[in-house]
Amino acid sequence: MASVRETLPAWFVPEEYDVRLTLDLAPPLFRFEGALALSAELLKDDVKAITLHSKELAYLSCSVARLGGKAQDAVSTTFNAKESTVTFGFAEPLDKGKIVLNIGYIGTHNNQMAGFYRSGYKDAEGNPAVMVSTQFEAIDARRCLPCVDEPSAKAVFKATLVLDEHLTALSNMPEAEVTVLPAAKAGAPRKKRVAFMPSPRMSSYLLAFAVGEFDFLQARTKHGVLVRVFTPPTKAKLGTFALDVATQALDLYDDYFAAPYPLPKLDMIAIPEFAMGAMENWGLVTYREVEVLIAESASAEQKQRVTTVITHELAHQWFGNLVTMAWWDGLWLNEGFASWMQSYAADKIFPEWNVWSQFVVDDQAAALGLDSLASSHPVQVPIRKGEEVEEVFDAISYHKGACVVQLVHAYLGPEAFRNGLRLYMARHAYQNTETKDLWKAWEDAAGGKPVASIMRSWTEQLGFPVLTVGKIEAGDGTLSFSVSQKWFLADGSKPAGIESKVWSVPVLVAYSTGAGSDDIVVSDVDAGMLESAGPKTFTVEAKGIAPGSQQVWVKLNAGQNVPVRVAYDVADVQRLSRAVRSKELDSRDRAGLLLDAYALAKAGTVDPGTLLVLLSAYQSEDNMAVWDAVEQALNGLATLLRGTDMERSLDGFVANLISDRAKALGWDERESDSHLDKLSRAILVRLQAKFMANDPDVKARCAAMLSAFLADPDGNKVPADLKQPVLRVGLQHASRKELEQAIAAVDAVSTIAQKKDLYGALGFTPALADKQHVLEWTTSGAVKLQDFFYPMASVAQSSAQGGELAFEFMREHFGRIRGMLQSASPSLLMGVIAYCAGGFASMERAKEIEEFFVQHPVPLATRKVQQICENTRANAAFVARIRVSCRFALSCASCAWG
Ligand SMILES: [Zn+2]
Repeated sequence: MASVRETLPAWFVPEEYDVRLTLDLAPPLFRFEGALALSAELLKDDVKAITLHSKELAYLSCSVARLGGKAQDAVSTTFNAKESTVTFGFAEPLDKGKIVLNIGYIGTHNNQMAGFYRSGYKDAEGNPAVMVSTQFEAIDARRCLPCVDEPSAKAVFKATLVLDEHLTALSNMPEAEVTVLPAAKAGAPRKKRVAFMPSPRMSSYLLAFAVGEFDFLQARTKHGVLVRVFTPPTKAKLGTFALDVATQALDLYDDYFAAPYPLPKLDMIAIPEFAMGAMENWGLVTYREVEVLIAESASAEQKQRVTTVITHELAHQWFGNLVTMAWWDGLWLNEGFASWMQSYAADKIFPEWNVWSQFVVDDQAAALGLDSLASSHPVQVPIRKGEEVEEVFDAISYHKGACVVQLVHAYLGPEAFRNGLRLYMARHAYQNTETKDLWKAWEDAAGGKPVASIMRSWTEQLGFPVLTVGKIEAGDGTLSFSVSQKWFLADGSKPAGIESKVWSVPVLVAYSTGAGSDDIVVSDVDAGMLESAGPKTFTVEAKGIAPGSQQVWVKLNAGQNVPVRVAYDVADVQRLSRAVRSKELDSRDRAGLLLDAYALAKAGTVDPGTLLVLLSAYQSEDNMAVWDAVEQALNGLATLLRGTDMERSLDGFVANLISDRAKALGWDERESDSHLDKLSRAILVRLQAKFMANDPDVKARCAAMLSAFLADPDGNKVPADLKQPVLRVGLQHASRKELEQAIAAVDAVSTIAQKKDLYGALGFTPALADKQHVLEWTTSGAVKLQDFFYPMASVAQSSAQGGELAFEFMREHFGRIRGMLQSASPSLLMGVIAYCAGGFASMERAKEIEEFFVQHPVPLATRKVQQICENTRANAAFVARIRVSCRFALSCASCAWG
């Protein structure tokens, strides 16, 4: 898709940045002095001015020289704050050919988690200290050095840092030379100069530094790459798990891509203050502490999270770093692919985790949730300016991108899929690509299958279809059914132009010859492609089918490989419900069927009563991912019914639905627990905490565990997997005194994961004045900038009144909160908005939210706000429908609400 791009002129081609940064980490200045020699080529004559990206840098000098020629100083230095550029003017025009710019400048180590910024940490003696590290993606390399800050302007980076002798300095490449410098004056700390080896050709957003006091662990991969995990002082042991995962993943990717990891080493480092989850800088991956450090007592969920964050970032070392999108409209190429690959590698390293079932309830559910809004955006989104990319680091680029990759995987089969990737790496290493280059590689590897023409419908238009299955006919060894498609929207609306939207949908089908009977056959078949609105009739060979059989069930989108919803008529849902109970349906299909039914009920296509009947088929479910789907559907219903007279009936329904599984898993960890047992228990405890918080047994257990926790917050008195729900229920019945103890416990616990559990629970305290106290406390500077919105979210999620309170608080203090985040990553402010305004189900609220942001515009959050309002209206419409439906349902004796 063509888009107008605002980039620096293409006639200036940077080739090598030789940059020396002299650091001063002492307060109050926190600044660095830069000396840059930038070698470049001019592709045109008569150049009188050169423009580079630059932000918050002050210039001391600039001169330019032809290679081997005489230097001339710049006669003017002009800033454009809006474009974040600097332009150097020269008196003598420059002609085509190689030049070197020499630039002296000053920059600041800000505390905004962007650029070359500073974080606080404790040194080995426990004294407060300052470290600095970088976060450049998308467009913050320009806060560290003047450069062409665009992904396609690949160049070699040769970095040198000058720093206090006792500190460790890391960059993308290993050290080439370390020189200890004489002290500037007597008594001053000695400095050293660390020169790093030149990087391969890479994009500016991947350049990275980290300087501070660190501990580390190291190992070599089987293929011989040195891998190190750097941690704050005294915390090296917490990096053991990450080191193990990383060494395995690197070898796995070496083999899979048939291209060895291109750098001599891979460092991974935990950064105390970090705006994102992690960042894939080539050879120096940075992480939030909680995403990489693991205590022995860590929860199964955290282990899995750390694993997939690492496998994601390491996939980028190839997909993103070695081969890079040409422009930000190809962000999905990076993020969608890495999000798919993270599951691929995690599944290989931990096959017992059943990762692909979890893919359905994580990636696919997130993608379909956001992409069912008219205010969503296509995977491949036009980006005019670099700033705009901040808006699309979202579920579409990551999760729908991953679903699109999964679709190709299912369509081509694993071998052609992998061979296409190998071809892609070989063709485009150290270069930039467009989406079409990936399609071409897959087409070439798959004997010319039309990948590009099929995929266009998935990447270039927003949304996805709902497939409606017509009457299913059982023939003699055949099955026939018709399928039609139309654009699916969360609120069930049908905007103009809907007929013209069509997707190329591979129709993959699972069927059984007879639900619940003996000697049934369950099979998957590929029925072909649906490329029109339909209805189109498909006939597939189906071994064992008897003509006219009424027991046959058919499940479309077998394996949930395609990001679509599927709608069936009521009789087919009943047959599929039986296949859920008997578990003839695969776990991915059991999860997908339920999530589809929930979304369709919300859109008004499926009667809410039918959804409840289907839900009750999951009573004997034993698969973790499927329980995750059940939890999502129940949480969705709970949010919608919050504060209504139906809230109670839902509690009763859930108590009944979950009782068997909850009893089987219990509350206590067991020696024999598998990874999935722990995750399952956490889900069941969360459900009990949410829907049975007033149950005497649940209440008593949580109160006892809360007391034990408050008496010894760091003593692992509550199993890590259960900590947050237990604290939530405990605090739901707690006094102000206990709340104060819980707040004090934030400083007493030793890992970030433990702090996060607390942040997520504090808002559940019952009294409104106490909830208000939590909001005031977390925005007072007591909580790190990277985390302060978690306690806000917990207030918002705690109850209907909590939701109102958090929204009011955000409105009242919006100016102050915005000020706190000044120039930090826009994702933090978007998080605050999403948490405080995202949980409503009324038309009035949608209007209020809209009006508030008209009065307080946040340009980069425009789409997010539209999405929140659209979702709020869809919720409101569903609540209105479910009220009508439930009046009927409640009067029906056999109804699931009974
Ligand atoms: Zn990524």
